[in-house]
Amino acid sequence: MLRKIPAFLNRLIGRDNGATMRLPEPVIIPRDQHPISRKQISRAALNVLYGLHDAGFEAFLVGGCLRDLLTGIQPKDFDVVTNATPEEVERTFRRARIIGRRFRLVHVRFGPEVIEVATFRALGEADESDDDRRHSHGGQILRDNVYGSIEEDALRRDFTVNALYYNIADFALYDFAGSMDDIKARRLRLMGDPATRYREDPVRMIRAVRFAAKLGFDIDPATEAPLYELAPLMGQVPPARLFDEMLKLFLSGQAQDTLKLLQEYGLFDALFPATAEVMTESDQRLLEAAMRNTDRRLAQDKPVTPAFLFAVLLWPALRARQALHLDNGMPPAVALNKAAGQVIAEQVSQIAIPRRFSSVVREIWDLQPRLPRRHGNRAGQLVTHPRFRAAYDFLLLREEAGEIAPGVGQWWTDYQEADEDTREDMVRALGKTAPSSGGEGSGRKRRRRRRRGGGGSGGAG
Ligand code: ATP
Ligand code: MG
Repeated sequence: MLRKIPAFLNRLIGRDNGATMRLPEPVIIPRDQHPISRKQISRAALNVLYGLHDAGFEAFLVGGCLRDLLTGIQPKDFDVVTNATPEEVERTFRRARIIGRRFRLVHVRFGPEVIEVATFRALGEADESDDDRRHSHGGQILRDNVYGSIEEDALRRDFTVNALYYNIADFALYDFAGSMDDIKARRLRLMGDPATRYREDPVRMIRAVRFAAKLGFDIDPATEAPLYELAPLMGQVPPARLFDEMLKLFLSGQAQDTLKLLQEYGLFDALFPATAEVMTESDQRLLEAAMRNTDRRLAQDKPVTPAFLFAVLLWPALRARQALHLDNGMPPAVALNKAAGQVIAEQVSQIAIPRRFSSVVREIWDLQPRLPRRHGNRAGQLVTHPRFRAAYDFLLLREEAGEIAPGVGQWWTDYQEADEDTREDMVRALGKTAPSSGGEGSGRKRRRRRRRGGGGSGGAG
């Protein structure tokens, strides 16, 4: 029975969406044969599950939370599915609110926690995004009823490891697709025929990478094989959908592995075409250093701003574009500004970067050529710039990657730690060397705080 799922998924998700559907029967794993205990489930999620159950509805936990619990990871959130309609869910709880338009979900609040409750979803709609379309790829309207049975809900899910259900009625797990085996084997397998499922929703390709990196799971060969060829389909995903997925990708705590996998499958090229086209070895080192840095910060519970990530990911494209303008005789600052506008405008047609982030990206870039110019009262002003810290971190990465010679970064490290008098000394010590005009620092050996002048030419790089 279970072996047949891929075949009939194909049939269902293909043209004939209806009459003769055969649905998988779950393997039911009773409470005494699996390790998930109610103690591991959040209070709010239990309240929602019991609330629905007491009101006479079916209620299950589903997806990532079960996968994580079985893998020994603390789930970020607990998702609930039910046969109650959104209206019925809303009526069942005091603090519930329907969200979404086409496929409506209910947010139920208990204290600080919000539990997302979805009604079992029917098969037949290809598009996962929350818009008002109800069309297949051919454009014909599929069906009006978006709600279905638990079997249909299971078939719609992406990976088998995300298609496990926990029934609050008897605490049993419902496994429709060999999910338990795959979780145990740490194996990512798409539900159904992989190529079909990727075509249906290319975002599943980057989800494969995200889960592989985050969980350390292997991508099953049949699920992996189509990635190489289908990666360009990423270009067709509505940009609005990609920003959130992008953040989840790079903020999973495993950004280094994520980058590697994205590049291996050609997904990086599809997501960041302008950067991919011009990547040099030092760019590659910059991106890797940035991912390492991001993972380290997350491990230390330090904040990571999406703007910083995009500043890094688009930097190679920016530099290449700026170089073109410089070749055409544009002054550096003008060239930078123009290139920044162009690179961001092109990227947002791929991934919708909200303006509140893209403006910060531009500030980080804009500060790069300014950081080496520390004369007079410039250093004192720069250090109070709201983006100074991000720009300084960025400069350190560029030095680490060997894009620019080290020196300026260390100077700023010292400057930030120094008291007022020392700071003045540091700036005075710069006096003997001319301010850098090229914006790339002097490329000289690191200058120590107390060193004065140092006789040589004032050679800015
Ligand atoms: P995480 O813990 O990283 O959030 P998750 O599995 O909960 O992982 P979500 O993006 O929150 O991932 O999605 C919740 C569930 O919805 C998934 O477990 C999966 O069953 C289903 N799902 C999400 N996106 C898709 C998709 N593009 N196609 C099919 N099913 C999906
Ligand atoms: Mg989730």
